[in-house]
Amino acid sequence: MDLLLIGPPGVGKGTQAARLRQALGIPHLSTGDLLRRHVAQGTRLGTAAAAHMRRGDLVPDHLVTEMALDRILDVSCAAGVVLDGFPRTLTQAEALDSALAGEGRRLAAVLHLTAPGQTLLRRLTGRRICGGCGNGYHLDTRKPRTPGQCDSCGHRLVQRGDDATETARVRLRAHTRQTQPLLARYRRAGVLHEIDGCGDVGDITRRLLAAFAAHATGPAPL
Ligand SMILES: [Zn+2]
Repeated sequence: MDLLLIGPPGVGKGTQAARLRQALGIPHLSTGDLLRRHVAQGTRLGTAAAAHMRRGDLVPDHLVTEMALDRILDVSCAAGVVLDGFPRTLTQAEALDSALAGEGRRLAAVLHLTAPGQTLLRRLTGRRICGGCGNGYHLDTRKPRTPGQCDSCGHRLVQRGDDATETARVRLRAHTRQTQPLLARYRRAGVLHEIDGCGDVGDITRRLLAAFAAHATGPAPL
C-alpha cells in the first residue's frame, strides 16, 4: 500500500498528503518533518544532518535514506505509508525499492501532482504571514479583513523570502530539474500518474485516490 506523492512548491502537496493519510488510514511520512524531528531531538542522524545544514549544504543522500528507511520499515508503517519528500534522488529510489522488496512490499503508485507554472507562481507569491503570531494568509484565497494586517493580532503581514517572485521561480525550476530523473524512472516502471492539482481540494483528493486504487490492486512489482 506504499505510495509516493511528488509535486512542485505551491501545488498543495502537504494538504493532499494529510487527506490521503486520513482516507487510506496509513501514516504520512514527510521527510522535512522527519529531518526537523531528528535535529530537534539531537539523534545521531539529526546531529550529523545539522552539521551540513549549518554550512548551508544539502543533507547527504545516505543520512536522509537512513532516516527515512528507519521510519518506513518501522512497525507503524507495516501496512504502508504516504511518502512525501523521499525518495528525491535515483540513489534514494533504489535504496527504497530494495528495502521494500525485503519486506515483501512495493511502491504501488507514484502520484505526480501538477499545475501550470503561472498558477504555482501566483500561489507562492500571494502568500503572506503575520509578523506577530505567524498566521498564514493569501492574497487570492485567504485575504485578511484589512489589507496587510493580521485578523487576530493586528500585526503587519509580510512575505517570506522564499515566496518572493524571483526566489519562487528559482525554486520551481530547481524542482523540475531535480524530479525529472525520478519521474522518468517511475514512468518506465509503469507506476507514475500525473494528477491535475487545480480546482477543488476534495476533487483533487478523489483524483489521487482513484489513481492509487487503480494501481494498489495491480500485480506489476517494480
Ligand atoms: Zn497575527
